[in-house]
Amino acid sequence: LKHAELAMKEAKNESLHDPHYFDYYLMDKLLERVQIEKKLPRALAEGEFELFYQPKINLETRTLTGLEALIRWNDPEQGRISPAAFIPIAEDSGFIVQLGEWVLREACRTNKMWQDAGHPKLPVSVNVSAIQFRHPQFVKTVESALQETGLDPKYLELEVTESLLNEPVMIKDKLDFLKSRGISLSIDDFGTGYSSIYYLKELPLQVLKIDRTFIQNTPTSTRDNSLLLSIIQLGKSLGLTVLAEGVETEEQFHFLRQHGCDQIQGFYFSRPLDSCSTAQLLAAHSD
Ligand code: C2E
Ligand code: CA
Ligand code: CA
Ligand code: CA
Repeated sequence: LKHAELAMKEAKNESLHDPHYFDYYLMDKLLERVQIEKKLPRALAEGEFELFYQPKINLETRTLTGLEALIRWNDPEQGRISPAAFIPIAEDSGFIVQLGEWVLREACRTNKMWQDAGHPKLPVSVNVSAIQFRHPQFVKTVESALQETGLDPKYLELEVTESLLNEPVMIKDKLDFLKSRGISLSIDDFGTGYSSIYYLKELPLQVLKIDRTFIQNTPTSTRDNSLLLSIIQLGKSLGLTVLAEGVETEEQFHFLRQHGCDQIQGFYFSRPLDSCSTAQLLAAHSD
């Protein structure tokens, strides 16, 4: 790794004097990846990761229905690094298994802490990468996170992406088992992957989360509106709770409410909050 990094640094320096900008750009990206990959284990050991929580809202009652845990990396040199920049790298290197285990435990621990403090009891949802889900120890990891933190499984939700649903044989037993334990399962980023409707129907899922790209141009684009409506109807006809992600405006909120969507998440109601602000939000919803 050291050699590769040195070689890349050299190549980068040379390419600086080179008109082939594209090569330089690629080299830079590659170098950055190698550096992030190298720093991840230390960052975990040093406690540089933190969970933020984004509220989920019932459209009808405008009340809190849950919280999604979203990871943040507070790097001492670079400041806060977004998950989009390091999760894919952690997935490629396999480190996501360890990191995901930390997220699970931390989300369960924090949720239990809020419950013990007398806040309203809400489910916390945790994003699970396909690589993490496929790992033979995954179910065991979930069990031990629940056991060690004492969180009731009904207050844990797992969000998996659509691509995973294309491996129904491999995942069905795990999903069935998790469901039997009372853990709720959501399909994340719906509409961006390719999943068979047959599997959607056969697998034990509870929530369909419509990807933000379908909400973005609503309600100004009539084409997107009808697409969005079809997805809501699909979800409802499969008996799922339908949640729209990335809701930013009042107009989007009203459109979704009018058309039978159950829940929303998005900047319109709240950005993801650190655990302190989340506790304050929970306290404000106590009565
Ligand atoms: P996601 O699961 O689809 O999470 C939603 C993302 O949309 C979050 O970005 C959130 O901050 C952002 N968002 C929420 N409301 C709005 C809105 O109204 N407008 C816009 N423009 N964006 C909104 P974030 O926190 O940067 O996370 C990005 C992705 O990183 C997540 O997408 C998820 O795929 C992944 N991720 C985050 N935390 C974890 C984790 O603990 N484990 C795994 N495996 N992946 C994670
Ligand atoms: Ca998610
Ligand atoms: Ca999502
Ligand atoms: Ca997404």
